[in-house]
Amino acid sequence: MFEFRNGSLHAESVPLDAIAHEFGTPCYVYSRAALEGAMAQYQSACAGHDALVCYAMKANSNLAILDLFARTGAGFDIVSGGELARAIAAGADPRKIIFSGVGKSAAEMRYALQSDILCFNVESAAELTRLAAVADSMGRRAAVSIRVNPDVDARTHPYISTGLKENKFGIEFDAAPELYRTASRMPQLEVVGMDCHIGSNLIETAPLLEALDKMLGLVDSLAGEGIGLRHLDRGGGLGIRYRDETPPDVAAYLGEVFARVGARKLKLVFEPGRSLVGNAGVLLTRIEYLKPGAARNFAVVDAAMNNLIRPALYEAWHDIVAVGDSGVAQAVYDVVGPVCESGDFLGKERELAVKEGALLAVMSAGAYAMCMSSNYNSRPRAAEVMVDGEKMQLIRERERPEGLFALEHLLR
Ligand SMILES: *Cc1c(COP(=O)(O)O)cnc(C)c1O
Repeated sequence: MFEFRNGSLHAESVPLDAIAHEFGTPCYVYSRAALEGAMAQYQSACAGHDALVCYAMKANSNLAILDLFARTGAGFDIVSGGELARAIAAGADPRKIIFSGVGKSAAEMRYALQSDILCFNVESAAELTRLAAVADSMGRRAAVSIRVNPDVDARTHPYISTGLKENKFGIEFDAAPELYRTASRMPQLEVVGMDCHIGSNLIETAPLLEALDKMLGLVDSLAGEGIGLRHLDRGGGLGIRYRDETPPDVAAYLGEVFARVGARKLKLVFEPGRSLVGNAGVLLTRIEYLKPGAARNFAVVDAAMNNLIRPALYEAWHDIVAVGDSGVAQAVYDVVGPVCESGDFLGKERELAVKEGALLAVMSAGAYAMCMSSNYNSRPRAAEVMVDGEKMQLIRERERPEGLFALEHLLR
């Protein structure tokens, strides 16, 4: 959905330079067709099965995107009370919301119980006890799934690997049966499922399937003890192409999951994040200065690590392309932002034919991009724009400097 037409990069039918002209830079630009297309891949692979796609909204939680996905019938995977408030504001059906995360507060539990969400993905024995107490105080029952940690190596970046024993996530596999027994004896809890999420941006499915087999073994042995589960939540994790990777095919992966689950009476839940939004967005930025040097040439742009932290945080690669033709020769640049950190780069050693004032598009910036942005250096967050065919619409205003300190107080 991001293609060159007549030498100029477009989002669907809208030239990116028109978006920069209208809304300024830096600016995130999303393609509605790309978002809906990615969701359709999951939903068509689920057709004919008892399954629910719960978008892991931490990947990109703009209300317009949540609204688009809610309209397709998708549910949401949330990790905080703030995300629950967002999902509800976007029109999500709370009965399709799953609450993940290792540190749910009692207030968040209360809010989620009041909202009547589908299920809590519980990550520790202590959380189970707290949830039971909160449910008890409200005279309600909480539906729970236990997140198991299968001790499987997702073979991804260590910061986004979550399924190893040394990670903070989930219940150790061998301790899970005992916790299921404990939970099923608690009258305030209704044990409904099992979940597992071993990491993000996986470019092979073998670790996901290895984890699935371990889960199915546990589901079967629990059923043998009379603890029957209604759903199996496979988490998220499918990677996308940032550079030249060959990410897993969604339909092939889901097909394999359904095949392995076989005749068991289990609803399947998937929690994709990155693979729904990652390649549906770009970060549009303008070159402020070219700064040639003996060791390096720098292209200093108006977006920075506060807007897109993935390169600094994970040494992640994003393609960076010139939006139009500057009519100059190529050179090799480090693309850097104005923030006062040497870690403030969007890409290193990139061949670009650009001059001052040229627009660049940082590709594959739909996931873990805007949502991870900060106000470091008192930089307002970028605007966000949704393109739909020939139409463009502002879906988040550029922050204003006054807004950055509006919650602060001078000393009395
Ligand atoms: C982050 C997360 C996801 C989504 O992961 P992706 O790699 O973006 O698909 C799903 N489930 C849980 C519990 C998560 O923490």
